[in-house]
Amino acid sequence: MATYIVLLGPPGAGKGTQAEILAGKINLAHISSGDLFRENIQNQTELGRLAKSYMDKGELVPDGVTIAMIRERISLQDCEGGAILDGFPRTPAQADALEKMLAEFGGQVNAVPYVTAEESILIERTGGRCSCRAHGHIYHKKFNPPKQPGVCDIDGSALYERDDDTVETVTKRIRVYFEQTMPLVAYYRQLGKLIEINGVQSVEQVTNDLLAALKK
Ligand code: AMP
Repeated sequence: MATYIVLLGPPGAGKGTQAEILAGKINLAHISSGDLFRENIQNQTELGRLAKSYMDKGELVPDGVTIAMIRERISLQDCEGGAILDGFPRTPAQADALEKMLAEFGGQVNAVPYVTAEESILIERTGGRCSCRAHGHIYHKKFNPPKQPGVCDIDGSALYERDDDTVETVTKRIRVYFEQTMPLVAYYRQLGKLIEINGVQSVEQVTNDLLAALKK
């Protein structure tokens, strides 16, 4: 049966970095809703234009279009064995839609690692963060620097800083996270699926904790 893992955590906790590493180690597709929106923005699609108007303000893109985008992505063949969902769901309505969607595919959310870090660390980590143009591989100038400044170690593409990683927008994104996404922590905890992971450790240590917790 397919395995679906939802990674929860505030902006800057390290979800994206860990999702990418985990996907490689446990051989699952990596679905990042933020990356899908950024791809749409780069390709100048209608969805991209709509998403950008919310992302620039640090707000969530409306549930309807977000759910439709994930449904389309998760239906692709590379997700047959399951997927790591990074950044989705972010609202109770999205969690509900995900459950129904996975039930259609004969699956369910198997585990929900929740990567935590306090707010001062989240702001420090999102400042200095950069991603590669080609595949969204994530680096940090101080905490996880690329071997060559401005160049992705993995695919050699140029690194850029996200428009929504300014202190002002990050502060808003953290607030939105606490207001709209935090209810999912209680929801998945109640279902016995939540696994708390301390995000204030080295990238390797967080990965080790995640792998150990998922093995159980
Ligand atoms: P991320 O790359 O996960 O930090 O997401 C960047 C931005 O994309 C967020 O601040 C939202 O504006 C938008 N976004 C990503 N995922 C979702 C989602 N599941 N629901 C609504 N908006 C989202």
